[in-house]
Parts: sequence; structure tokens; C-alpha cells
Amino acid sequence: CGIFAYLNYLTPKSRQQVLELLVQGLKRLEYRGYDSTGLAIDAPDDSHDILMVKRTGKVKVLEDALAEQCQGAGFDQPVDIHIGIAHTRWATHGVPSELNSHPQRSDEANSFVVVHNGIITNYKDVKTLLEKRGYVFESETDTEVIAKLVHHLWQTHPGYTFGELVEQAIQQIEGAFAIALKSKHFPGECVASRRGSPLLVGIKAKTKLATDHVPILYTKAHRPHGQPQFQLLPSGRACNVDVSAEFQPLEHKEVEYFFA
Ligand code: GLU
Repeated sequence: CGIFAYLNYLTPKSRQQVLELLVQGLKRLEYRGYDSTGLAIDAPDDSHDILMVKRTGKVKVLEDALAEQCQGAGFDQPVDIHIGIAHTRWATHGVPSELNSHPQRSDEANSFVVVHNGIITNYKDVKTLLEKRGYVFESETDTEVIAKLVHHLWQTHPGYTFGELVEQAIQQIEGAFAIALKSKHFPGECVASRRGSPLLVGIKAKTKLATDHVPILYTKAHRPHGQPQFQLLPSGRACNVDVSAEFQPLEHKEVEYFFA
């Protein structure tokens, strides 16, 4: 499948523009999966609620649905920081359907949503564990365990950062993945990670970035054996991230990030 995430930082963009970027990204990745598509953006108000739109079929079907659903008030006003995550699916677990399309969510309130490329091989064990804790699964995907596990960790570990929650979660999952997450509880933050599957990070900055201080926010690959290494990303270039920098605050103004 293809995942595509976008984060702008102090480069004001309207939800409409973010949606266009996400759809463009999905179209470029469509050859990697075309049974269903979906995306998540911030709802067009200040609630931090997450708006998800998912469709079976090609990206064009999603694009048409967005043209219908995402019009008018709130969609054309520029916002400083916006996270959008999108996915085009090649089903491995569960039939192509809207429920099984990504983003997958933690709960009905869309607290945590995730797009995932790959397969979680121990998803049944994780699912059983979460079900015992009261989680009710709505899809047949392996992916849904990620969102619910992060939610469970969030409830049991108050004070953890978004990055820490995801880091904890991926220590409990096996298999290959490239993931990007967004959360109602951490507005303006995107966490992306990978193991086995490729993940590309593109950075577009208006001002030149110092290459010794790379403002990759919340991008961390999990390496079960071995030390994390720094991967420097010169500005304006997309790189395949092996293991990214530690979580770093965004100190550079007017930056745009793309994860694919
Ligand atoms: N295993 C996940 C699913 O079936 C992701 C598949 C993909 O990479 O598209 O939903």
C-alpha cells in the first residue's frame, strides 16, 4: 500500500489545500494499492476532532467524495499547523471495504488514527489482550491494533508524549510496518515510524536548514536490536529514513514535511 502524511508548520494552508496535497500524494502512490483509500484531517473547527473520509475503489472515488463533503465554512481558511494522513490500501487482512480501509481508529471519537503499510504478524495476540481490556474491534485488519494499543497506553501512561506512546506500542508489535499517526489529543503532531517497510521523509523549508540540526519531528524508527542512528536530511531533499533523529522540537519556521 501507500501511506502519505503531510505536516505544515507556520506555512499557512487551508484544509482544502491540505486535502489537495493528500490526494496528489495518494495518486502518486496508487500503483501500490488500489482497493480502497482514505484520509484524516482536522475537522473544520477548533475542536481538534478528526475528520475521516474513506472509500472503496480508486483515489478518484475519494476525491469525488471529498469534493462533496469537504466544502464551505472552515475548509478554505488558512491554518498554521495541520496534519493530514492518507492511505491507499492493498488488503492483506480483511476484505476491501470502508470499515477495513485506513485510517484505522482507536475509538468512536477518533482519538488516535493510523495509516499503515505492511503486516502486523502478532496482531491476534495484541487484539485478544486489548479485547480483554474492553476494546471492541470494528475492522478485520491487523492495523486496528496499533491505534487501539496507542490509545490503551495513553490511558495507562498519563504524561507520555505522543512519540513515547508510539514508541511503547511498536515495541509490542511484530512484523513489518511504516506507519503515520495523528491524534485528537496531540493536535499539530504527527508520529511516523517504520520497521522493515520503507518510509520516505520529504522536507520543504523556506529558510535553509542547518544539516546538523535536523528538525524531523516525531519520526522514529524502531530498531529492536542495536542503537538508533542519526540520519541527516539536508533541506529540500527526500530521503529514505533508516533510523531518524531523536524526537526534536520544530525550531525552524515555515517548514513542510511529507511522509510516504
Ligand atoms: N495489513 C494492512 C491491511 O490489510 C495494510 C495493508 C497495506 O499495506 O495496504 O489493512
